[in-house]
Formats: sequence, structure tokens, C-alpha cells
Amino acid sequence: MRPPSKPRALLLPAYAKINLGLEVLGARQDGYHELRTLFQTIELHDDVVVRPRARGLAVRCDHPDVPRDEGNLALRAALELQRYAGVGKGAEIAITKRIPVGGGLGGGSSDAAAVLMGLDHLWGVGLGPAGLQPLARRLGADVPFFLVGGTALGLARGDEVYPLRRQVRGHTLIVDLGRPVSTAAVFARVDRSLTPRENSHTIFRFVSSDLEGLRAFPILSNELERAALEEAPDLADRVGRIRGILIRGGAALALLSGSGSSFFGLFEDGRQAQGAQSALVAAGFIVLRARTVSLDQYRRAWSRSLRARRARGVGNQSRSRHHGDHRRQGHSGRGRKAEGLRIDRV
Ligand code: ATP
Repeated sequence: MRPPSKPRALLLPAYAKINLGLEVLGARQDGYHELRTLFQTIELHDDVVVRPRARGLAVRCDHPDVPRDEGNLALRAALELQRYAGVGKGAEIAITKRIPVGGGLGGGSSDAAAVLMGLDHLWGVGLGPAGLQPLARRLGADVPFFLVGGTALGLARGDEVYPLRRQVRGHTLIVDLGRPVSTAAVFARVDRSLTPRENSHTIFRFVSSDLEGLRAFPILSNELERAALEEAPDLADRVGRIRGILIRGGAALALLSGSGSSFFGLFEDGRQAQGAQSALVAAGFIVLRARTVSLDQYRRAWSRSLRARRARGVGNQSRSRHHGDHRRQGHSGRGRKAEGLRIDRV
């Protein structure tokens, strides 16, 4: 008699995002904020393994600050899909965290999008990224972006996502300040300090053709930064020093990501990024280096992960092509240029 075949599993990379720019346009009736943001995926990622089982949902994670109950956004994503599609089957979800938790890098949202994509495939629901958008919106404002990836404009709550024809390619340094900052608290401060002002429209200027090229980056800013530093005043001095090192090291852009607390620098030149990384490490900071992931590369990563299941399933996380130190690891997308901050059309 043949031994029963092992349940198939999928290993999905859940990439982090940075906000290349973020504008707060005002408060909305629904309690959220009207935003305009430029999202960018980077190759820093969590590993998410989803394995089908007869019934029930469970999540495991190696990070002490990540909940293992329904507080976990990845588990909520599975529940949402189960209910929406009327699926009776269950699943186990295992998350290996590499994205700093509460760092404004969208780790939980990316894990949730990976689970939606993985279980949509494994349970045979077949909604695909477009059909999963309404579920993603219900889970959180950043989740819809992670069904798209690359360089994209986020409008409304940030959940109306428009992939850009111009895809940014470059090198990023992520400085992990090791101190989660509450997104809700930062927005509450924004509300208290919201004074009537002219919107700057720098993101629209950035995406418009008359500002094509690398000289456009310095006009971008993060309008949550002031509120984030009021919320976490102990970070202000460090943020000032980090920005100085990044700019002196040649960064085209140096900003807080989202509501913080991660700070990033974007570089054209990989060697300059390496030099700035050394300077930051010498100053005592924890720094991760990651290249940008374009829309094309993001799509290829999904389709590789979904195809891999048909080929051989996934035994454990150590088989990941994406496993390892992302500071040294190259993204495996084909046709990738090793150096340079470029804006490509897709
Ligand atoms: P946000 O802006 O949505 O708060 P963030 O990018 O700053 O997100 P995350 O790493 O997503 O930060 O975590 C925010 C909170 O969500 C943490 O308090 C964490 O406990 C909780 N959380 C729930 N599920 C996850 C998950 N799968 N990974 C990380 N954090 C999670």
C-alpha cells in the first residue's frame, strides 16, 4: 500500500514596503485619513508557509511580539477568505519574521496578502489578486498594495492602488530603530495638529512626466514624520544623525517609512549604499540592505511560489530560494541590473 501523500504546502515571500513619499490630505468621515502615498516593495521579506489541513486554522511565528491568535493579521486573512468563499477546509500558517515588527514596513499586511494568495490557490478558490482586493481592504489599508507590489501610487486610505508605469530600481538601507511606534497614535497626533494648509502635490509632481529622472526624489517627503517624532521623542536625535549619514553617503532620499519607526535611505549606487551602511554600523545602528523589487519581479516571485507547489510542494522553510541574509542575497528576478537607481517603464 502506498503511504498517504503529504499535504502540499506553499512557501511565499512576504516582501516589506517603504513609502517613498506620504501626504496626509485630511481626516475622513470613516475615521481614517485621506492619503496620497508612493509605495515601493523591497527584497527584505518574511517567509510565509501555508499548508492545508482538513479543518481549523492555526498560526505559528518565531517572533515574540507577533500574536498567535486572531490578532495576527495573517490568521485573520485566512478566516476572511474561509468565510467569503464558504470554504470548509483549514490551514496551518508558519511565519518566519525578518521584517522589523511595528517598523512602518508593512510586515503584518504583507504576511496577510501572502496568506490570501497562497490559500486562494491551495483551496482552489481562484479569486486571484484582483478578486482578493475587497477582502484585503477589509483587513487593513496597506494589504491591497501587497497584492500588487512594485512601485505604486496609493490613494484614499492608501488602499486604492495604482501600479506606476515608472518602476523605481535602486538600493535601500533600512535602519531598524528597534522601537515600535503605534500607527494609530501617530495619526491621532496628526489630527490634533492638522492646520489648514496648501497640499504640496509633490507625489503627483513626482509621477508626472515633467519631473522624470532621478532629480525628482528630493522633492518627496513623509508628512507623518513630525507626528511620529512627537509620539516617540526619544528617536528625534537618532533620526537626525541617521539622515545626516545617509545624505552625506549619497542617498537620493532619506525618510521615515510610514508612521515609523524604520528609517530608510534610497541609493543609486550599490557601493555608496555599502559605504553608508558601514558608517551607520560604526555609529551603532542596526542596518539592513535590500534592493527594490519592481512590479515585474514581484509578479514573478508570486508565480514561482505558486508553481513550486505543483512541482514538489514545500517540505520546510530551509528550501526557500529566498532563504538567507537579504543583505547579501540578490533578488532572483531575471534581467535585474546589479547597480543603479533607475526608473523603468513597465
Ligand atoms: P501598521 O502600520 O499596520 O501598524 P507596521 O508596518 O508598522 O504596521 P507591523 O509589523 O505590520 O507594523 O505590526 C504592527 C502590529 O501588528 C504589531 O503590534 C503586531 O503585534 C501586529 N501583528 C499582527 N499580525 C502580525 C504579523 N503577521 N506580523 C507582524 N505583526 C503583526
